[in-house]
Amino acid sequence: MRTLKKTFQAHAKVNFCLHVLGRRPDGYHDVAMLMQQISLADQVMIEVSDGNDIQINCPGLKLVPGEINIAEKAARSLLSHVGESLRLKISIKKHIPAAAGMGGGSSDAATVLVGLNRMLGLDLSKQELMNLGVKLGADVPFFIFDQTAWATGIGDHLEAWPGMPPMSLVLVNPGIAVSTAWVYQNLGLTHTSSVAKLPKFPEGIPAVVRLLHNDLEAVTVQRFPVIDEIKKRLIAGGACGALMSGSGPTVFGVFSSFEKADRAAKELASHYGWWTQAARLK
Ligand code: ATP
Repeated sequence: MRTLKKTFQAHAKVNFCLHVLGRRPDGYHDVAMLMQQISLADQVMIEVSDGNDIQINCPGLKLVPGEINIAEKAARSLLSHVGESLRLKISIKKHIPAAAGMGGGSSDAATVLVGLNRMLGLDLSKQELMNLGVKLGADVPFFIFDQTAWATGIGDHLEAWPGMPPMSLVLVNPGIAVSTAWVYQNLGLTHTSSVAKLPKFPEGIPAVVRLLHNDLEAVTVQRFPVIDEIKKRLIAGGACGALMSGSGPTVFGVFSSFEKADRAAKELASHYGWWTQAARLK
C-alpha cells in the first residue's frame, strides 16, 4: 500500500457534573456525568504503511517504566480486531495536561480508533469502536460518541444532551498530576442517593451553573487545597461558576464570552503562574 498520513484533533473534555452512585463488585464505580468536549486538543498524526510494527512518539509525556501509551494500545486493539498487520507511526503533540481530569489519554485513544477506521476504510460502526474503546478506558466511548452526553454506567452508557448554551471556559491547572484510581480509592461513599436523573436541557448559562457538581472534588481538594483557591480566583475574575473537572486537578470557570475568559486566563497566569487556557465548547 502507498503510505497514508493524516492528522487528527483529539479534544479534551470537562464534566459539568459528576455524581458517584456506588461501587460495583468489579471495583469500578457507577457514575452519572454530564460530559462536554472543548476546543483544547492534542494533535495526533497517524502514518500507515506496509509492515508489522507500531512506533509511538509522544514528547513530554512521562509514563511510568513499562507503561504503554494508551494510543498504542488503541492501535493494537483495532488491528487485532480486524486481523490486519501494518506499520504505524503515531506522533502525538500533547496540549492537554496529563492526569488532569480532562481525558487527554482517553481522547488520544478514541482518536486513533476513529482515525484508523477512517484511513483504512474499515467501516466499523461507532458502536463497534465504542465496544473496543471501553476496554481501554471508561471515558474512551464518550470521545467516539462525539456529542455532549449524559453518561451513566461506568461512564460508557451515553445519551446525547443537545442544547448546551454557548459559553466559554477558563481552564486552570496548578501543575499537579492526580491519579484517577487514587481519587476513587479515597472516596468515602457516604452519598448514594439517586441523583442520577437526566437533567433538563438548560436554558442559558445560569441553568448550567446550577448543575455544576462533582463528588470527586472533596477528595482531591483535601489533598490539594489549591483547587479551592483556584475556584475562588476564577469567581473573583468574573466566572459565573467554577468546578473541578473529573478527578482533577484542573478547574474550569464558566464565562459568558471568549473575550472575558481570555482576559481572566491571562490575568490568572501572570499572577499565580498556573497553566491557564481559555477554551470554547466543541
Ligand atoms: P480521565 O479524566 O479520563 O480520568 P485524566 O485526564 O485524569 O483522565 P489522562 O491524561 O487521560 O488522565 O492520563 C492518565 C494517565 O494515563 C497518565 O498519567 C499516563 O500515565 C497515562 N497515559 C497513557 N497514554 C497517555 C496519553 N496518550 N496521554 C495522556 N496520558 C496517557
